[in-house]
Amino acid sequence: MTQEKIQLNSQHFIDLEDKHGAHNYHPLPVVLAKGEGVFLWDVEGKKYYDFLSAYSAVNQGHCHPRIVGKMKEQAETLTLTSRAFHNNQLGVYEKYVTEYFGFDKVLPMNTGAEAVETAIKICRKWGYEKKGIEPNEAIVLVCGQNFHGRTTTIISFSSDPDAKGNFGPYTPGFVAVEYNNLDALLEALNEYGDRVAGFLVEPIQGEAGVYVPDTDFIPKAAELCKERNVLFIADEIQTGIARTGGLLAICGDCTCEGHCERQENFTTPDILILGKALSGGAYPVSAVLANNHIMNVIKPGQHGSTFGGNPVACAVAMEALEVVRDENLAQNARNLGNLFRSELQELVEKSDLVSLVRGRGLLNAIVINDTPESSTAWNICVALKENGLLAKPTHGNIIRFAPPLVMNEEQLLDCVRIIKETIYNFKK
Ligand SMILES: *Cc1c(COP(=O)(O)O)cnc(C)c1O
Repeated sequence: MTQEKIQLNSQHFIDLEDKHGAHNYHPLPVVLAKGEGVFLWDVEGKKYYDFLSAYSAVNQGHCHPRIVGKMKEQAETLTLTSRAFHNNQLGVYEKYVTEYFGFDKVLPMNTGAEAVETAIKICRKWGYEKKGIEPNEAIVLVCGQNFHGRTTTIISFSSDPDAKGNFGPYTPGFVAVEYNNLDALLEALNEYGDRVAGFLVEPIQGEAGVYVPDTDFIPKAAELCKERNVLFIADEIQTGIARTGGLLAICGDCTCEGHCERQENFTTPDILILGKALSGGAYPVSAVLANNHIMNVIKPGQHGSTFGGNPVACAVAMEALEVVRDENLAQNARNLGNLFRSELQELVEKSDLVSLVRGRGLLNAIVINDTPESSTAWNICVALKENGLLAKPTHGNIIRFAPPLVMNEEQLLDCVRIIKETIYNFKK
């Protein structure tokens, strides 16, 4: 096959993945070759609106020129030293990111799962050394239907049979409580008492299908944790960095975009976990943030990563966070999110196919009126693709809608039109 032919044929690339790659994903049948801002192009040259943003990693839009520019510049200068030596980017980034989010210290990692693992290790160590939990007795409370990544320990406390099945034996020391249920949390805190080191929670459950908890769940849960000397650990890997209309989802309705002096309604987690959009999707960058009395339990040799805090990651993350501020992405997500949900409410009222629209900022989902086992949501996503918009079902009958936050109102309304036309014309 000539090079030209290969470039024109989606099926060719799908076949290559099928034959040579592990089948650990089930992608929509589209082969992407280029991205810019809110748009993607497939190998045949068809243009799409991206309505997933790589699971909220590409909040700043595809190939943002400022982020890519910094990445190129740093890649040509110094890429990796390991932490065996200092480098001239790490400290500058650490100062920047800790001031940006209001913590004493950061521990840099690469992927989200690594950052969650790191947070769990810090939490357990704090439990033994600061709280005085008996050796190997520490409990970390988690939520039902959680998603925190794919490592052996993390899937040990997943409630998804696919994520968990036949990967045992599982890591002990985790207890799941129902999400958005303060009584269940209180009960677990009472039952496990002084053994509880931390409570790990997503402020909005993204993978589970964009479950937005009651407005008092997060602040009250944090309060309960504080009363019991339990670390409140917020996994904002998907919800953070402007996605839900504030700098973080735990900011609630605060509109300061991280500039405010922690108002009363602001929940400050003891440990904050970030990933995904921390690099604008250009590079794997994750981070764990905490204050000194927690972070200082980690001493030299006790945790690390060859690539964590590398110069390219540091340069990219600083620029990605600058872009979030300079382009008012949180405010844009808030405004467009309100418009999007009010526009899509029409579908709930007029179409038998859509039973619910929910979300916050530009992290939204519609629930398709069919069973999770049905292929209806998948087929709607295939139809959306044909009509120039890329989205993906989660948990069978839920479709997540999360475009890059650099979208403008005209583009959003164009997407609303595509979604409405697709649903109204959809035949099961
Ligand atoms: C994506 C995600 C993770 C895992 O991040 P990876 O980079 O895929 O390891 C963890 N927690 C949440 C809430 C996520 O959305």
